[in-house]
Amino acid sequence: MGKGFFHVPKAVNEPVKTYAPGTPEREEVLLTYKELYNTKVDVPLYIGSEEIRTGKTASINPPHDHKHECGVYHLAEKKHIEQAIETALEARKKWAKLEWEQRAAVFLKAADLISGPYRQKMNAATMIGQSKTIFQAEIDSAAEICDFLRFNVEYMTELYNEQPNSSDGCWNRVEYRPLEGFVYAVTPFNFTAIAGNLPSSAALMGNVAVWKPSDSQMLSAQVLMEVFKEAGVPDGVINMVMGDPEMITDTVLKSPDFAGIHYTGSTEVFKNIWAKIGNNIHTYKSYPRIVGETGGKDFIIAHPTSNPKQVATAITRGAFEFQGQKCSAASRVYLPKSLWPEIKDFVVEDVKSIKMGSPEDLTNFFTAVIHERSFDKLASYIDKVEEDDAAEIVVGGKYDKSVGYFVEPTVILTTDPHYTTMETELFGPIVTIYVYEDEKWEETLHTVDNTSAYALTGAIFSGDRYEAAKATDILQNAAGNFYINDKPTGAVVGQQPFGGARASGTNDKAGSKLNLMRWISPRLIKETFVPATDYKYPFMKE
Ligand code: NAD
Repeated sequence: MGKGFFHVPKAVNEPVKTYAPGTPEREEVLLTYKELYNTKVDVPLYIGSEEIRTGKTASINPPHDHKHECGVYHLAEKKHIEQAIETALEARKKWAKLEWEQRAAVFLKAADLISGPYRQKMNAATMIGQSKTIFQAEIDSAAEICDFLRFNVEYMTELYNEQPNSSDGCWNRVEYRPLEGFVYAVTPFNFTAIAGNLPSSAALMGNVAVWKPSDSQMLSAQVLMEVFKEAGVPDGVINMVMGDPEMITDTVLKSPDFAGIHYTGSTEVFKNIWAKIGNNIHTYKSYPRIVGETGGKDFIIAHPTSNPKQVATAITRGAFEFQGQKCSAASRVYLPKSLWPEIKDFVVEDVKSIKMGSPEDLTNFFTAVIHERSFDKLASYIDKVEEDDAAEIVVGGKYDKSVGYFVEPTVILTTDPHYTTMETELFGPIVTIYVYEDEKWEETLHTVDNTSAYALTGAIFSGDRYEAAKATDILQNAAGNFYINDKPTGAVVGQQPFGGARASGTNDKAGSKLNLMRWISPRLIKETFVPATDYKYPFMKE
């Protein structure tokens, strides 16, 4: 251990830059964007000190301009996954023993690198590879990842400070050991910050990781690896592998040293991984930690006393920022009949004013959806509305994939609170509205609670405190992140720890102490200063 009780720098949220015309950051990010757009990257597997180029590659194409190729990434074979596991376990021998302040320094440095010299490279990679506007990139690949890294360091020290009492003659202490084995991190396309956080939070606690990023996040994944390397994360502590997700996962889950999974992505994939872990349980040396944050069907419900303009703004921002591809995005909305006409006018006006196109044009609010699979799925749901009597399109509904995967922000109105788009996660810019009779507010709250398998985020709007309290109570288990008079998106690390229950995940709250607790295995050490020398207790005296 270290030779001092060190205080870490106080974590504060990374300030979000504006990118307004005339700011230096605007110029810098546009230059970096151009440069990266015209470079062909060649993303290797990162295993230990090696950058492995297998020769089997897949191409990286911006979703808003899918015929353009930004480069390729290399695909692993089974032997590479086995190599990554072995390398991680070898690295563990030193990393798990390293003093906590050394680990903290590495990740604090990573945050400062992202906040400073890597900021625009991270943002540009996220804009190009995941089609984020500059603002959506900045809050993710600059601000949120820095917050994860810095707050996690602070939470680690808080955890380490949690120590038991000691009675006379002995000293009880708890050491927070890393898990015995390695952690498998599987990350989604939609947040660069999540991609960085899932392997690094486990690594901060002394673990080693095999990280499988999403195929649709490869540009920014590589920049993250560059940052980790430059920050001094030792070789083998975080290993990045890409390829067939089933092959990679099956290989990882067969290892007796598999100690935990840190997953974010869709629900079905997570459930299947969980089942595989269960089937392999006799293989493992320990019971693996299973942490997964998964899908959502996030709601907004407005009481008749709510402010129509505020509700409309929450719908537009909550449903359509980053093309609705946030796990927290509002996708089912319940509005009282008395307010619907006014809210509808505001929403239609907002949606019609949304500018769609490449993220390079900073005046756009909205860009393309992530890939063709997603585009086709969204288009099929829009087409279905045209055929169904229970639903109609209020605004939007057009799509075009000739250049990029563009789907208009689309508002559906349904007369059936269980219409398919009220229940199924679409993960795109489609929001469905159900209008309820004002007097059925309470009944509708129960409908909100019972409609979806998910319980990630939800928002209620009310000008009446008693009704807000009622909704908070009835919807107690309907969302892990619950908002009153706000949109259901935009959780900030250190302020709104994030995660949902039911089919939305294990609710271990990314960006909180609760999450870090999953990557440690405490050892209690009791030391007695003057041990007993007689087995008999006083009560045994004649
Ligand atoms: P996805 O499920 O397609 O992919 C997630 C990860 O799982 C990727 O790395 C992918 O390659 C991998 N994967 C896919 N198939 C696999 C298989 N058969 N075996 C093992 N791994 C496999 O999800 P996505 O499209 O990248 O992200 C969107 C989903 O993630 C949505 O459902 C969204 O709600 C969810 N999400 C949840 C949160 C949260 O905090 N709850 C945050 C972000 C995203």
